[in-house]
Amino acid sequence: MEQFNQYIESILLRDESYADRLFPVKATLSTIRAYSEPLEKVMACYEALSKCSFDEIKTSQKHRKSLAKLLAHTWLISRTRTDTIYRFCLPFSVLLDQPYVFELNYETLFFDLFSRPIQTIEYPKPIFHSVKYEERLALFPDLENLQNLSLATKLTFALLIFKADAISGILSTEDIPNLRLFKDDISILEQKGLISANPSDVDLLATFGYEDLKRFAQKHDIYIFKKRDDLINEISQKISESEIRKFIRPHLEIVKPLMPKIKQMQVLRKFMLEESNRLSIYLEWVALKLCGIPSVVAPLLVKRTLPGDVIPRPTPKKKDYHKNLYRSEGSFLNYYSKREIEIIKSFWDSYCDKVIAEEPVFDDGVKKLAAYMFEIGAVEYFIKSLGKDKKLWRSIFAAFVSSKYRKKYKPSPQLLTCNGCGAQFREYSVSWRLIQCVNGNVQFCQFCYEEILNHDYCANNAEMEKQDNAKMLENLHRLYVSLERIPTLELLKNIPTRIPSHPTEKQIAVGKSLLVMPSQLLYVKRFGSWLKSLEMAGILEGGYRKTARGIQVFANDGHICLSLAEKVVDDWLNAHHINHEKEPKYPFHIEFNPRKLMRADWKIEDTFIEYAGLMEDYEYALKMVRKKSLAESLNLDVIVLSEKDLDNLSLKLERLLTR
Ligand SMILES: [Zn+2]
Ligand SMILES: [Zn+2]
Repeated sequence: MEQFNQYIESILLRDESYADRLFPVKATLSTIRAYSEPLEKVMACYEALSKCSFDEIKTSQKHRKSLAKLLAHTWLISRTRTDTIYRFCLPFSVLLDQPYVFELNYETLFFDLFSRPIQTIEYPKPIFHSVKYEERLALFPDLENLQNLSLATKLTFALLIFKADAISGILSTEDIPNLRLFKDDISILEQKGLISANPSDVDLLATFGYEDLKRFAQKHDIYIFKKRDDLINEISQKISESEIRKFIRPHLEIVKPLMPKIKQMQVLRKFMLEESNRLSIYLEWVALKLCGIPSVVAPLLVKRTLPGDVIPRPTPKKKDYHKNLYRSEGSFLNYYSKREIEIIKSFWDSYCDKVIAEEPVFDDGVKKLAAYMFEIGAVEYFIKSLGKDKKLWRSIFAAFVSSKYRKKYKPSPQLLTCNGCGAQFREYSVSWRLIQCVNGNVQFCQFCYEEILNHDYCANNAEMEKQDNAKMLENLHRLYVSLERIPTLELLKNIPTRIPSHPTEKQIAVGKSLLVMPSQLLYVKRFGSWLKSLEMAGILEGGYRKTARGIQVFANDGHICLSLAEKVVDDWLNAHHINHEKEPKYPFHIEFNPRKLMRADWKIEDTFIEYAGLMEDYEYALKMVRKKSLAESLNLDVIVLSEKDLDNLSLKLERLLTR
């Protein structure tokens, strides 16, 4: 209690330099004055509430009112901030460990706040599903350790979660301004086992992905275990501390690391962001209803997503094609100074050139080369030499790799005929940004590529909306055939659209289909849903069913699939004559599968396959955490597929083919 008081005071009144960085003090104070609730009174709310369970709060009108006041108050502070991190985590930290459920009636909320129907608002976006308390605890069991901690400590915890690096899960103490204000909290959190203030090198090994660890292990010629934990164990036993240190430190890019020890941190962060969004909308509403304070959120109205804005198709001008646009178009490297480029260049060697020569896909090339830079210790030098911004090297490096690819693909002045509009154009008239998307395999002119690669945006116009049902369905079917797989919504919503660059015939066919096809939104609008559109286009032969568990579609071999993505995988297995069992049961395990209810998506001989979809989704994540523990304790062979893998399944499932 006292600590929170001090905290707020230190922010608002005492430490002005800190205050200026965290909050616009004057604006905050005047807002609070307008709110006319003295700080002591708000504090009293907090003190009263911190002694009750959420159930008690829910059932008592008085407590509910206190909670609303408290939240509205913290919200008032936070909404004067533009820095998203603080804005989001401040009010939400109150609820982090509480068994709350948001059941929001968005229609009412939005109408009260913005005086217009929810459908006419593009932003803020309502998030409808809520994650149940038990599910939260199963996913993030450590949250329970937050119970009975002060609000300030919870807030600090939330800040650390948001500040920590998304991949490694660690953060630098240098990134936390005025660390001393948080010192007490950090030691409390450490006592509770929620963070580690002095992680050992072995602890830090656990923040690396399997591929990095594998490379490190290979370099030292030790046995490569299949499971990450075993590999970490082996590394810590067989490789000297100083070598481990040498491997870890440059990767860390951080001098004094702090490490939140929470499981599933990325999922937790997404959960916190979404819940904060829901809470903030609710709080805007509370502030309005309880205190008469109008919302500061200016809603963004639906505009572009409704057809009506015709995007005129520019007529290609011949003289543009003959001008040497290649020379005038800036390279990404132009954004950086000569010195900066020299630094990156200093580690470029024949291996790098080999990667550029051999790796046709630009994205994969960048990934491979960045990994190599880590390995040879170049990254440490980049960071030291480039100064302040620790991520700057990545952008310069990507631009440098891009320039190398540009030299490799060398867009030439040769005249080509566009496979879309039939116009003649010079290869180099297509901008490099677009050429990179198709890995140098130019088959369309600039104008056509703009439309193909920005399909979701460009094809949502009144012209496209004029297509009759039959034409729309025919075009959708055409895309399906050219893509050789079911087009999922995820695929079509992505900008740039991920079209196959090779083989050339496939790129042309997919590009041509997209050029005449309306955007997915227009299909949903016309036919009711994407699934319905696919069914009517004859793509889902067995049709689909809506069940309590979600949708069901039929694979070509009659198997029931629970999503389109599953159907893509199942049809691939079928097309490659791979005998597979659908929804196989996992073996018994006393702890993780006591009732033998757990199922995989497929089983091929002894290999289980899971389609994990978007791993940021809580339900998937929750399911996958349990399955992972099961697979590890029984030493099962499990292949996990993600949405991206659908484009090229043979890459991940190759070893099934050779059986
Ligand atoms: Zn064209
Ligand atoms: Zn099947």
